Amino acid sequence: MKKDDCIFCKIAAGEIPSQCIYEDGLFKVILDLGPATKGHSLIIPKDHYEDLFEIPEETAAQAMVLAKRLSARLMEKLHADGLNLVQNNKETAGQTVKHFHLHMIPRYKDDMQNILWKPGEVTQDELALIKETITG
Ligand code: 5GP
Ligand code: ZN
Repeated sequence: MKKDDCIFCKIAAGEIPSQCIYEDGLFKVILDLGPATKGHSLIIPKDHYEDLFEIPEETAAQAMVLAKRLSARLMEKLHADGLNLVQNNKETAGQTVKHFHLHMIPRYKDDMQNILWKPGEVTQDELALIKETITG
């Protein structure tokens, strides 16, 4: 299941070069070309799924297990102080490559990256309403 004009399908197939830090039958894990920090890596399934809504549950679960394993390796080898897992879906949420991928972003004290969000404000009534909308 590949998509002809997809850059990550081409990277996964080895048609476009990349710095690969891990590969198995299902995934290729590469260093990001525009890294947020040193060691910023992308877990890419070899089959084409546009986003979280398309990827099969089993593959998503396997990606998370791989993220757990490789994150520990990044932390250790790069002497990182923390690590963010980031996964963007749809343009509004910052997705620029329409092939599911999971970012592993090692964090370093004083790395000056701003990957977290600005907390908003909400009332208890609003929270209750949102809960009803989601669960109702
Ligand atoms: P998104 O914004 O879709 O969540 O993340 C896409 C990521 O892919 C970005 O961090 C970007 O730097 C990275 N990227 C885009 N094109 C290439 C490429 O050709 N090679 C590599 N290694 N990374 C890429
Ligand atoms: Zn693809």
